[in-house]
Amino acid sequence: MSQPPKTPSILELYPEETREAAALLKQAVPLMMRHAIAPNPVHYALWYTYSKGSEPELNRRLDKAVEDFDVFPPETAIKLFRDYIIRGDLEEARAGQQQVIELVDDIENDVSRSVIGSQNYQHSLSHGLSALQEPIIEDLPSVLSELQESTQLMHDQQEKFLYRLRAAQDEIKHLRNQLERAHLAATLDSLTRVFNRHAFTRLLEQALSESHEGLALVILDIDHFKQFNDQYGHPLGDRVLQHVGQLMRELLPPRAFAARYGGEEFCLVLRNCTGIAEVLEFAEQLRRKIQALRVKVRRTDQVLDSITASFGCALAERGDTLEALLTRADDALYQAKRGGRNQVHPATSESMLSA
Ligand code: GH3
Ligand code: MG
Ligand code: MG
Repeated sequence: MSQPPKTPSILELYPEETREAAALLKQAVPLMMRHAIAPNPVHYALWYTYSKGSEPELNRRLDKAVEDFDVFPPETAIKLFRDYIIRGDLEEARAGQQQVIELVDDIENDVSRSVIGSQNYQHSLSHGLSALQEPIIEDLPSVLSELQESTQLMHDQQEKFLYRLRAAQDEIKHLRNQLERAHLAATLDSLTRVFNRHAFTRLLEQALSESHEGLALVILDIDHFKQFNDQYGHPLGDRVLQHVGQLMRELLPPRAFAARYGGEEFCLVLRNCTGIAEVLEFAEQLRRKIQALRVKVRRTDQVLDSITASFGCALAERGDTLEALLTRADDALYQAKRGGRNQVHPATSESMLSA
């Protein structure tokens, strides 16, 4: 199945160059540490944007929140994140999350380096201290040991921070999985696991806006399905729909996509087709596979008669709207039904009608 349309790239959402982003991060992290803000993805995104200064109202609200509360309230963070970072859009939220993941990875690298750095510094201090048998400046040893103590403190703090950061990374992975699942749930039909009508409309509109060349639409509708439900019950009808969805997924060529348009009606969008003959052949193959399905009633082991479907096929034409293409394929489907069902019918093209 083809991928859903591209989300806005991270670079579009966050146009800073890496060096600039790193500088913003270096401002954001100490701010978070100063206000004892837990290192989690939502907070990183907020304080990164704060450092960037691109949302003055967000900065005011964050300033106020750290002034008003000892512990930054999670619900305030989420609200600000929604209002100023993702602005309620799921697609952007995905890209935003991706950005946050990258930021956290960057910070992790930064902090890891600095932990190692402070460790080295500490070692060289203690090495220097033991080498100072005869101090040249009288209080140098005490200065050095103070420095060593404060370095130790800094090192401990950084290590703690690093530990929390790594925990945050696990949380981010979890969040990313949740977002992926939410995204799938929003685009897939839960019964048949092909795209739902909403996603289908969006994908086909996008495909048409790219190019009509080689684009084809197939609509299929299961025959006498009302009668099937009446005779065998709705749950078995649902199983038939699941089988049809699975067959479509299995047969899909690359870059094609399948959807449940509604009820017992499915759509397929094919690309790179050389002509209507190829589309008809593909539909014919699917028609035969559906007819060959053998559905068994679990309770009685009875194998049911063939299930059949009728097909309407249309090639996209120059200037086609979604509605125009759907109407032509739907008219072809109607012809297939009128012709006796269990058959594939091509659309009459606009160009042929006006010829
Ligand atoms: P035709 O050959 O003309 O297409 O006849 P049909 O009976 O398939 O068409 P009709 O539009 O009269 O009925 C469609 C039926 O599809 C009605 C409804 O019970 C069934 N149906 C729609 N959605 C679902 C579903 O999600 N599950 C089940 N089991 N049945 C459904
Ligand atoms: Mg129907
Ligand atoms: Mg039907």
